[in-house]
Amino acid sequence: MSQQVNTLIIGQGICGSFLSLELEAAGVSHLVIDEARPFAASGIAAGLINPVTGRRLVTTWMIDELLASAREAYGRLSGVLGRPFLTETSVTDFFPSAQMRLAFLDRLAEDASWLQLPADEARWKDCFYYELGYGVISPCYLVDMQGLLAAARQRMVGMGILLEQRFERGIWRFFLTMCGMGISGRKGWFFVMGSGVVIAPGFPGCRSRRIRGRC
Ligand SMILES: Cc1cc2nc3c(=O)[nH]c(=O)nc-3n(C[C@H](O)[C@H](O)[C@H](O)COP(=O)(O)OP(=O)(O)OC[C@H]3O[C@@H](n4cnc5c(N)ncnc54)[C@H](O)[C@@H]3O)c2cc1C
Repeated sequence: MSQQVNTLIIGQGICGSFLSLELEAAGVSHLVIDEARPFAASGIAAGLINPVTGRRLVTTWMIDELLASAREAYGRLSGVLGRPFLTETSVTDFFPSAQMRLAFLDRLAEDASWLQLPADEARWKDCFYYELGYGVISPCYLVDMQGLLAAARQRMVGMGILLEQRFERGIWRFFLTMCGMGISGRKGWFFVMGSGVVIAPGFPGCRSRRIRGRC
């Protein structure tokens, strides 16, 4: 393949897929290199966006902004890929211990924004054994990760911007940064979270002090 691009994206997980879309929208030429590991995180993830977290079910940091942003971003992606990938759902939380039931009830008394008790606690008795009852976390969102990745990949192949092979750092003489970072160039900011890798060899004026965050 002989091609000149501004940017390489290593990995077509959820981050690489979104970043590719953002670069396309910003008019930045790019190539995605992905070796299609069968057990990469995005492909096996549940795809759940949960508004509460941890044993105390505290509200997920910045959840209102994140949910609004997720709805907007996945909506945009659906427009490009031709079908929806984000559905609203709820999580049924069977209490594994009396302590967890108490934690749920305490949290519900403090803030009922995302938590509810079921109208009929016996509803799932024929399907599950749960002597301590259950609570409901709602609304949550579920992303069809496998469908999204496959559709994004198919589109990238069609556009000729996906190279299906392993990227070996040694053979590319480019500036390379690892996950959890942002890159700024003349065309704006790009932010990547997760285990993917982004390489930005061709941003004129991209200075190292403008690279934020590392892991
Ligand atoms: C079991 C499981 C369940 C999860 N459930 C949830 C959940 O419900 N909700 C949630 O928010 N998060 C969940 N996560 C976390 C979430 O899946 C990850 O944070 C996210 O998918 C990371 O995406 P990524 O694009 O950064 O990386 P990855 O999905 O790891 O994508 C990286 C891509 O890069 C490719 N690659 C790597 N190295 C190379 C190379 N050298 N050359 C070429 N290609 C390469 C891989 O093949 C892969 O396709 C879960 C994770 C796991 C493992």
